[in-house]
This record gives sequence, structure tokens and C-alpha cells, in this order.
Amino acid sequence: MAVSFELTEDQVELQKWVHEFAADVVRPAAAEYDEREAFPWPVLQEAAKIGLYSLDFFATQWFDESGLGIPIAMEELFWGDAGIGLAIVGTTLAAASVRANGTDEQVGRWVPGMFGTEAEPKVAAFCSSEPDAGSDVGAMRTRAVLDERNGEWVLTGTKTWATNGGIADVHVVTAVVDPELGARGHASFVVPPGTPGISQGQKFLKHGIRASHTAEVVLDDCRIPGDCLLGGREKLDERLARAREGVKSGRTQPSMATFERTRPAVGAQAVGVARAAYEYALEYAKQRVQFGRPIIENQAIAFALADMKTSIDAARLLVWRAAWMASTGRQFTAAEGSMSKLVAGETAVRVTEQAMQILGGNGYTRDYPVERMARDAKIYTIFEGTSEIQRLVIARSISGVQIR
Ligand SMILES: Cc1cc2nc3c(=O)[nH]c(=O)nc-3n(C[C@H](O)[C@H](O)[C@H](O)COP(=O)(O)OP(=O)(O)OC[C@H]3O[C@@H](n4cnc5c(N)ncnc54)[C@H](O)[C@@H]3O)c2cc1C
Repeated sequence: MAVSFELTEDQVELQKWVHEFAADVVRPAAAEYDEREAFPWPVLQEAAKIGLYSLDFFATQWFDESGLGIPIAMEELFWGDAGIGLAIVGTTLAAASVRANGTDEQVGRWVPGMFGTEAEPKVAAFCSSEPDAGSDVGAMRTRAVLDERNGEWVLTGTKTWATNGGIADVHVVTAVVDPELGARGHASFVVPPGTPGISQGQKFLKHGIRASHTAEVVLDDCRIPGDCLLGGREKLDERLARAREGVKSGRTQPSMATFERTRPAVGAQAVGVARAAYEYALEYAKQRVQFGRPIIENQAIAFALADMKTSIDAARLLVWRAAWMASTGRQFTAAEGSMSKLVAGETAVRVTEQAMQILGGNGYTRDYPVERMARDAKIYTIFEGTSEIQRLVIARSISGVQIR
């Protein structure tokens, strides 16, 4: 098949549609929700009204063969604002985990409810990280113990950094079912709405993406029905038996499977933030006059803008390649998903910082949006695998060496 970088009519339509929502609804609300550090329920409702926050929308994009629907939508939405963007798409991390690890029946049962309805949107949370298990997922301590008397699973432990944790209707929780097997003894569970024993702990006050809710989730003898084990009992028993026999299953642990699917999409969010700051700085540089001429007439400024634009386009190409590879079933031979997230995340940090520099003193104040964008950008070198962890994954993938 010939390579083409031209978007289809449908993709251009999608881009325009999300851009319009980002420009008309998200951007005008960005400063307020950043300042209040509050979840933007009214904006989520607006997104639900037009069908942008809906299972229908995400499912259509998930099954888009080009793989570009999600990156295009993410870039435009996060161009509007990253905090509100994450409030709108945070649910998809939990949905992706159910898709990656659950049966078809479980996907049909749990994923639609994660979004709620147009009139009453809901959110979902994916809870993997723990105070002592961030990058090192294998250090997870939250336990899931089967109560043989009634087939219920009992979850106990503390999850941290959960996007939508505690405000979600449905929580997807990873836990240790066999501590002797390390990361291969983990499983994923759905905690249905209203289950006793799950509660929100500390809500984190953050540097950026402040409209997105991030909190601890405490599981205290939280009992869930047996069929909330994602993938089912039989599959788990088989997987644990293989792990016990030391047979390499070739499968990654549940959290890793989720992250593999979501990394290019996260990279696209970072591209959106970077592009927003670049566009703002470009216009500013044309307007701002010093020494009797617009500052863009200085090479120092113009070259910085040239570098910003070049690196944003390069990051987008890596994101689109990884998304296309994933959707067409191509094998990632050099951790191309991690590459895209690494480059896009670091680009967002660098470009937003350069944008602040171009705005001078104004760039350092909350009266101008690049200050917020620079704070927002930093999360992209931290969550969904830090930049160091992306490099580790890429280095292991290209070398075959178990680099530490
Ligand atoms: C706003 C926000 C939202 C989040 N949302 C979610 C969510 O919804 N669900 C969820 O489960 N988690 C979520 N996370 C957690 C996030 O994925 C973790 O913060 C991230 O994986 C890093 O873990 P950590 O914070 O414990 O850092 P650590 O693992 O303690 O890392 C600290 C530093 O050490 C480095 N480091 C660690 N190990 C190595 C190594 N082997 N080689 C080189 N360097 C290394 C790291 O790169 C980092 O620089 C969120 C985090 C934040 C801040």
C-alpha cells in the first residue's frame, strides 16, 4: 500500500469538529478550572451532549483501521486545554484496561456505564500505581484474595495517583493474586459502582492539569463478585499455572498491556499542548515590538519558533506511525509506542518552555495561557511511564539486553 500523509475527508471532518469544541468550549473554561483545581463537570456534560464524551465516539475511533482517529481527536482536544482534556478522556484508560484484559461479555457489561448518559455523564478510573509501586509495577502490594465460600474477591490495599479516583462510578483495579509470582501474579478487577469498602483518600493538589482529578483510592476489605475478575477465572488459573511452571507466556502483565495501547494517544495529547503554546508564541512574536521591530525579526526568536514547529511535526509523525502500527496489527520491534510518547512528552516540555521565553515577562504570568501550558506539559514526562522508563523499554527492545 502506498504511503500517504493526506488525511481522508472523514479525518479532516473529525479534526474540525473536535477543534471547534476545543476552541469554543474548552479553551474559554481552561483558566477557571485550572485556578479552582476543580473537575469540570459542566464541560464534560457539553462534551457528552455533542457525543464527544461517549462510548460511541471512542469505539468508532478504536475500530478505525488507520489508527489516526484517536491521535487526531486527542491533539485537537488537548490543544484546547490539557487539564479539561484529561477530565474528558480519563475514563478511556479504564475502558482500555477492560478491553485489553476482559472478555467480550465484560466489555459489554462495564464499558458503556463508565461514560454514563448524555444527561448524566459518569467517569471511570484505572488504579494501578501504589505509593511503593510506581515505575516498578512488580512491587504492587494490593491483594486480591478469593473467598472460596461464596466466590467473591476481597481487595485490600492503597492505590495512588488515580485519575478520577474516588469520583468514578466504576474503578478498574489491578491487584496481586499470587505474591510468589511477582508481576506475573497480578490480575485486574472491576469494582462496580456503590461497592462498600472502596473510598477516596487524599486528593492531590498538582503543578498542572489541575482540572483533572487525581487521588488515592483506598480498598478496605472491598468485596466484589467473582465475575468482576477481568478475563475470568479459567484464564487466570491457566496463566498462573504457566507462570508457576516457569513457562514464558509471552504476555505482559495487565497494567503493561493497558499502557501499550494508550501510549501513542498520550503522545498525541502532548503534541496538542506543544502546538497550542507554539501557535500562541508565533502570533505574539509577530505583534510584540522591541527595538522598533517585531521580535520575530530577530533570528534568535524566529529560529526558536522554527525548532518548535519542526519538533512538534516530528513528534506527531512518531505518534501517527505508532498508532497506525497498533491499529494494523504490526509488531512493535523497537518499542515504537514508547518512542512516540517519549519524544512527544519531551517536546511538549521544551516547546512550552520556549514559548514562555518568547513571551518574556508576560509568559511568566497567569494572564497568558502559555504559563498554564508549561505546567500542564510536564506531566507528559511522568505519567503512563516516565521518560526514563520509555528509554528503558526502547533500549531493551532494540538490544535484547535486560538493561536496568
Ligand atoms: C497527574 C497524575 C495522574 C496519574 N494517573 C494515573 C492513573 O490514572 N492510574 C495509575 O495507575 N497511575 C497514574 N499515575 C501514576 C504514574 O503513572 C506514576 O506517577 C509514574 O508511573 C511514575 O511512578 P512514581 O511517581 O512512583 O515515580 P518513581 O517510579 O518513584 O520514579 C521516580 C524517578 O525515578 C526514575 N526511575 C524509576 N525507576 C527507574 C529505572 N529503572 N531506571 C531509570 N530511572 C528510573 C523515574 O523515571 C523517575 O524519574 C498518575 C500520576 C500523576 C502524577
